[in-house]
Amino acid sequence: MAKKMTVSGVPPNELDHASRTHAVLSASAAKRWLNCPPSARLNEQFPNVSSEFAEEGTAAHELCEYKVRKYLHDRMERPQSEYYTEEIEQATDVYAEFVISIIEEMKANGAEPLALVEEKLNYSHIAPSGFGTGDMIVIGKDSQGRGLLHIVDYKNGKGIFVDADHNPQMMLYALGALRAYDYIYDVEIVRMSIVQPRLENLSTYEMTVQELNEWAESIKPIALMAYEGKGEQKTGDWCRFCKAKPVCQACKEEALALCREDFLDLDAGAFDTAEESDMTAPYKADTQTAVFKQPGLIPLSELSEILPTLNRISSWIEAVFAFVSSEAINHGVSIPGYKVVEGRSKRVFTDTKAVVDTAVANGYTDLYKQSLITLTEFEKMMGKKKFNELLGSYVAKPHGKLALVPESDPREAVDLTEPSQEFSVLPD
Ligand code: SF4
Repeated sequence: MAKKMTVSGVPPNELDHASRTHAVLSASAAKRWLNCPPSARLNEQFPNVSSEFAEEGTAAHELCEYKVRKYLHDRMERPQSEYYTEEIEQATDVYAEFVISIIEEMKANGAEPLALVEEKLNYSHIAPSGFGTGDMIVIGKDSQGRGLLHIVDYKNGKGIFVDADHNPQMMLYALGALRAYDYIYDVEIVRMSIVQPRLENLSTYEMTVQELNEWAESIKPIALMAYEGKGEQKTGDWCRFCKAKPVCQACKEEALALCREDFLDLDAGAFDTAEESDMTAPYKADTQTAVFKQPGLIPLSELSEILPTLNRISSWIEAVFAFVSSEAINHGVSIPGYKVVEGRSKRVFTDTKAVVDTAVANGYTDLYKQSLITLTEFEKMMGKKKFNELLGSYVAKPHGKLALVPESDPREAVDLTEPSQEFSVLPD
């Protein structure tokens, strides 16, 4: 089978995942800069702050890479990380098994697939200076003998579902891969898969090369505008990971506009005229406080209309507080009207051994508690097969906590009419 090192001449272990530098028009942020072009340059003004989630994600990607390379017989030492829990092991296994199944299927289709792991992809012919790293690219033939490019991306997160359908990150990677390798199999079909095992999400989308190229042409002017820092700021769910969010004018305007016009409807009623206010305030006829002209309740249908905006605003408010707190706490910036204080803390033992020795020396016993090992630890100890054989009948998967999510969320809706779901439906 054809296979290739990530960057020719560089052994896999020497690849620095942490140095996956990002282009101004990075593929992972494509949804953001395609919708809000100035955000590409605005984000450059803020430092990259790593998080525990990001570090865990990098470690998980390294394990994914190792497992696929092992199958491909590429030499690579198994990476080590404090993040390698049983959950990450299982998640990366799911990814590796999926990738291997793609390669095996292409082999069964009579093609000698080209498998590219952690491949740097250049799509600068579409978006200026655009490049990114594809987790897995496989090029071969589909069951009908057509040239097939299959791109797979591992998502370690378990907060937000990622859909492969018209996913601009995947489409930009595909354009980069086509540019470099189209000559091998005369690719006709592009298949893009997102593997997000911790949310049991495996999403695949397919399009023809012609459709992909049409999309590429349609975004070229937007990409140029974004690269030049032009265009208008536009809020949407793409704001979520925008580093400019805490100080974004568009976010502020959206929040204030909602309060002013849609939610409280102040101009239309609350402060209309003193006379009307008085008339609607029977218990305080002499009050100077403005009262809603037509006080009432917001219908559920109206609330549901503003839910997406409220989500965004609440996330913007959190970002503002986080940003201002960080400025004050980490950089000593003085915020008028606010001060930095210490929160409550819990007492801790400084030397556990000395504590135990002292307690025992003074006649105290029963210092330790015992508890049963976890289900995952049992499974690991016995192996999956034995575990299922011996304990499988004692395992149940309770219902997860219910949550209200947007219609676009790929999870199946819960049937609230089923007797097993014991809750009442809110009246409209
Ligand atoms: S936060 Fe502001 S700059 Fe960033 S994407 Fe949203 S609207 Fe654009």
